[in-house]
Amino acid sequence: MPTFSKRVSTFGTTIFSEINNLAAQYGAVNLGQGRPDFDTPNDVIQASVKALTDGQHNQYPPGNGTAELRKGVADHANRFYNLDIDPDRGVLATSGGTEAVFSSILGLVDPGDEVIVIEPYFDSYVPNLIMAGAIPVYVPLHPPEWTLDPDELRKAFTPKTRAILWNSPQNPTGRVFTVEEMTLVADLCKEHDVIVIADEVYEHLVFEPAQHVPMATLPGMFERTVTINSLGKSYSATGWKLGWVYGHPDLVAGAMRAHQFVTFAVHHPSQIAAGYALHLPGSYYEEFQAMYTVKRDLMMEALTGAGIKAKVPEGTYFVLGDFSDVFDGDDMAFTQHLIKNIGVACIPPSPFYCAEHRYIAGKLARFAFCKSDDTLREAGERMKKLKQ
Ligand code: GLN
Repeated sequence: MPTFSKRVSTFGTTIFSEINNLAAQYGAVNLGQGRPDFDTPNDVIQASVKALTDGQHNQYPPGNGTAELRKGVADHANRFYNLDIDPDRGVLATSGGTEAVFSSILGLVDPGDEVIVIEPYFDSYVPNLIMAGAIPVYVPLHPPEWTLDPDELRKAFTPKTRAILWNSPQNPTGRVFTVEEMTLVADLCKEHDVIVIADEVYEHLVFEPAQHVPMATLPGMFERTVTINSLGKSYSATGWKLGWVYGHPDLVAGAMRAHQFVTFAVHHPSQIAAGYALHLPGSYYEEFQAMYTVKRDLMMEALTGAGIKAKVPEGTYFVLGDFSDVFDGDDMAFTQHLIKNIGVACIPPSPFYCAEHRYIAGKLARFAFCKSDDTLREAGERMKKLKQ
């Protein structure tokens, strides 16, 4: 008797769980999963505590999200990007960005449709497509600058293409795509009548002079883009698993149809706190970026000290390093060596590639720097041994 469906038969354990277990086993400084080791801002926590204890928010919220969350998302998109979002029909609360991507795929993509995936990609995208019966079509970014080849991108668009999974700022390369690069994508989407599922959860993790431009703000793209965002990264609350989809009501309606039968509704008190967080003043985001600029620089120092080469990330809290000067072997072997012998955990990026393009990951490792400055310094000290 098969114990699992054909649909999930090719899925292993996610690389994040695997590395967390190994890091714990060997007492490694864990720069693997993008999981801050510092807390959520206290006022955001207090907003959640109040929502838990005021006797009004412990039962089912509306399936599409509370009025507070939906207004927060619409106001935030208007404040930062001048977007005009309908808080009633243009926003949907989800269980994290991950469910937002999955519900969008389920609600907007048909079995047999092709969906373009930029590599390296966040690891849930392809299993999501497989579960929806869609066909991933891969377009790799080219190191060391992690740029798209316009011809490769153009060739990926066919009459069967329904959507492209777009991610900027990009996990794991740290790219923040330029308007010029995005215009190329947008023009192809318009030419081929393709929709964009834009995962922009790292929107506030951008380092000067890079600037985050939502795909939905490009000319003619609002009608064909759903944007995914979440509380996790911008407010250091990855454990709250609260995300959302926003965009044109006709597209959000598709995601909503799926969502109502996936989770129906998501954690009520967190949505009240999200309504508060989304209205934090500009100074919050400035301090957040300044804090992360220091962490990025500490991370780069640690890599340089270890003999690992890397493009300085323009955004996100990840950096992809090339270890070929200090280790002979592939990314999987390097990760094992780093955890077991050096005492630092990273993520091998080959699970972010299809089999054909996996070779690109061969000499690369992803490091997360959403960690205290002391943690990053300790990792740097330990990694110096790599060169010896
Ligand atoms: N987004 C996080 C990362 O890339 C991980 C999320 C997860 O473990 N699924 O590290």
